[in-house]
Amino acid sequence: MDTSITDERQAIRDAVRNLCKDFPDPYWREVDKKEEYPQAFIDALTASGYLAALIPEEYGGAGLGITEASIIMEEINRSGGNSGACHAQMYIMGSLLRHGNEDQKRRYLPGIAKGELRLQAFAVTEPNAGSDSTRIETRAVRKGDRYIVNGQKIFISRVKQSDLMLLMARTTPYDEVKDKTQGISIFIVDLREVKGKGLEIQPLDIMINHHTNTLFIEDMEIPAENLIGEEGKGFRYIIDGWNAERILIAAEAIGDGRWFTDRASSYAKERIVFGRPIGANQGVQFPIAQAYAHVEAADLMRYHAAAKFERHEKCGAEANMAKLLASEAAWEAANVCLTTYGGYGFARDYDVERKFRETRLFTVAPVSNNLVLAFLGQNVLGMPKSY
Ligand SMILES: Cc1cc2nc3c(=O)[nH]c(=O)nc-3n(C[C@H](O)[C@H](O)[C@H](O)COP(=O)(O)OP(=O)(O)OC[C@H]3O[C@@H](n4cnc5c(N)ncnc54)[C@H](O)[C@@H]3O)c2cc1C
Repeated sequence: MDTSITDERQAIRDAVRNLCKDFPDPYWREVDKKEEYPQAFIDALTASGYLAALIPEEYGGAGLGITEASIIMEEINRSGGNSGACHAQMYIMGSLLRHGNEDQKRRYLPGIAKGELRLQAFAVTEPNAGSDSTRIETRAVRKGDRYIVNGQKIFISRVKQSDLMLLMARTTPYDEVKDKTQGISIFIVDLREVKGKGLEIQPLDIMINHHTNTLFIEDMEIPAENLIGEEGKGFRYIIDGWNAERILIAAEAIGDGRWFTDRASSYAKERIVFGRPIGANQGVQFPIAQAYAHVEAADLMRYHAAAKFERHEKCGAEANMAKLLASEAAWEAANVCLTTYGGYGFARDYDVERKFRETRLFTVAPVSNNLVLAFLGQNVLGMPKSY
């Protein structure tokens, strides 16, 4: 197991931590209250080059690995921010890097690295398919040098804030394939060309500031050259990217977990009730210590998964376990922190309620923890399949 923190990684952590100091609690609180996109933060992160961490140097990026990318995400959340505004660029990137052709990489990656193009949207989820992604109904049909796409997507985040979107669609209907994972393709959609022309975006009103939408797709045209890899093999490409996504989400949850235990322990030392700090009571102190231990344990699995990923070893089990353990530890820490703050936990000015809402997402999206358990139960432990 490799959980070592090299000087280089520590330097990245310190630099991101410093950058985040310019965006303290009131910044995120205001953005949340107004339901705005944290544009100023994203601009600063882009200018620093950290948003292009995973883009190879030959295309203008930093050429870093998943461990470094995860440290960047962790630090944003640990500072009190929300990397949900920018994380997709990190985990979508793998599909383009590994399965895109040279022309596609040259067309998009340098612009993304410079911050001129934003690839922050990833359209998989559909109302009638839910967690069973092979049941998607959005259909792309090839006509000459274009694909014509029809369908509907739900919970697709940051579409309005992106120039490019990765789209998963069926090129062969479910009933016509022997293997349900076949017949699915992925495309790069240039949103600037299709917004209002085949693509209608309807924002969803949800409990966190996440800019997520329903997409109505009607006769939307995509140039055939925007197909990634081979037609019909897209599900495999997406699965390849899932491990990176799980590791990054685990790191974000760990960042949140540390934020909660830091805040809870600080508050418990300062808040005097019955003539002594509330943290002197074991009923307050022990749950914080317990949550802390769970966050630290999950962090080991996150580094273990990341190290295997870097070595190109199979890491589905570890990446899924990291996401499961980290999301649960963060949620435990969130509850403990809110309890520690008492009534003040509900007051917006203390930021606990905002982070509490935000961290809850990790147990549900981008994949629900039940599906993670199903993966472990069925694919790792060999128990019968539920689907
Ligand atoms: C804020 C937010 C942002 C999102 N952003 C994006 C995005 O950018 N792009 C995108 O494509 N999607 C996005 N999603 C969608 C997200 O990935 C899905 O909500 C998630 O995968 C769960 O799918 P579902 O909501 O359809 O739940 P369902 O599939 O309807 O599941 C409902 C419940 O049933 C459980 N369940 C279902 N089947 C089984 C089973 N076989 N065994 C045990 N339990 C089961 C699930 O675990 C879950 O608890 C986002 C969601 C949210 C809330």
